[in-house]
Amino acid sequence: MSHSALDTPTTRGTSLIDQIGNTPLVRLRRFEPKAGVEIYAKLEMRNPGGSVKDRAALAMVLEGERSGRLGPGRILLDATSGNTGIAYAMLGAARGHRVRLCVPSNVTPERKRLLRVYGADLVFTDPMEGSDGAIRQVRAIYEREPHRYFYPDQYSNPANWLAHFNSTGVEILEQTQGRITHFVAGLGTSGTFMGTGRRLKQDKPGVRLISVQPDSPLHGLEGLKHMESAIVPAIYDPTLADEDVRIETDEAHALIRRLAREEGLFVGPSSGAALAAAIRVACGLDEGVIVAIFPDGGDRYLSDPLWDVTPEEDATVTDAPIHLRIDEAQLTAIRRHGARTYPDECCGALLGPKPGEVTEAFPLDNTFPDERRRRFMVGPDEYRRAEARAAETGLQLVGFYHSHPDHPAEPSQFDLDHAWPNLSYLIVSVRQGQAKEARSWRLKADRSGFEEEFVC
Ligand code: PMP
Repeated sequence: MSHSALDTPTTRGTSLIDQIGNTPLVRLRRFEPKAGVEIYAKLEMRNPGGSVKDRAALAMVLEGERSGRLGPGRILLDATSGNTGIAYAMLGAARGHRVRLCVPSNVTPERKRLLRVYGADLVFTDPMEGSDGAIRQVRAIYEREPHRYFYPDQYSNPANWLAHFNSTGVEILEQTQGRITHFVAGLGTSGTFMGTGRRLKQDKPGVRLISVQPDSPLHGLEGLKHMESAIVPAIYDPTLADEDVRIETDEAHALIRRLAREEGLFVGPSSGAALAAAIRVACGLDEGVIVAIFPDGGDRYLSDPLWDVTPEEDATVTDAPIHLRIDEAQLTAIRRHGARTYPDECCGALLGPKPGEVTEAFPLDNTFPDERRRRFMVGPDEYRRAEARAAETGLQLVGFYHSHPDHPAEPSQFDLDHAWPNLSYLIVSVRQGQAKEARSWRLKADRSGFEEEFVC
């Protein structure tokens, strides 16, 4: 038996397990908000089992074999939302171990089928209890007959994060020639984040580590955990992260559609969440080399409703900018305008050299007849003033801004009903007279809603 395929990523053999790790790093130029900031994705779908979890599963299986806990006749038993299970099933087949997995019954049909392809035995658990329900079931089975099973328990097993300490982290340092400045990874068991993060901090202490979580307990980011509402994995140490970013499911879904259409890169929802976080980090930097882990490929989610897009929605994915670039001075002017008109909404035009770029915020009068605390209107005269200013400065009208007094910076139904396509709608929230967050939105082609742009 080779000592550990993961210890020696550069001297590879020809067995299946030797093909785990050494995944490619690809640059995502279109998603970089400014020159000087590089964004790279580490494509974990290129592992033989199709996901990042091949690394952890291999390390745990090898550790089990070495320690004797996974001796002849023992059944490998664990709880998994999918990818670890696929990796166990693959490795069990390759190394002659039976595999039994507890899986929430709502995992996608292609996942169930894939697990059976490799010969795994499945125990379905209550979908309402998610991965925590599967964990509870495994514990119950194991406690009844501990002598029959090897229970690697990926949530508590140090081999999980050590796999990444010994492979993923080393590879990233090599592939970026030590240039990495920021590392971004989602939290499931947290093995990827903890192991890679610890290696990076050890070898390059200045690297900043950014963990990614869903923004709410009920989310569609398979493989990720919302830690406050979940059973917290024993291997997770929240103090390792320099920053913890929360991502909405819709934002991640929108990004994976764009990645497929615009980069030819078809990945799963948790990769979209990692990219959203990477772009957010990038927006706050002048220079940097950001590496985000893309845990798996998109084909595992083909039956997910996120791909049930209408032809009109299909048309939404165009060359629309991903970012709204705006000078700090102009953003400050918009914030001040919002604070000045509080508790009424302020409004103005966004002018710039091209869509997605604002060099001048041009204040306009809110001409809504009443209820200016909740609505704004750019009347015909004000609209002509904005056009005249654009003509005078040689700029284009690229969008409008307005404030939301004591409301979040999210578009209302009124905003939806009155928006035009191909323009940016920047909203600044003003609370008790103080300007807070600014977010920008773009109308979908079918007018069904807005897509968020990253304000950089
Ligand atoms: N994304 C996907 C699709 C996953 O399956 C997992 C594993 N649960 C993760 C992200 C998170 O990886 P980790 O368990 O190493 O935190």
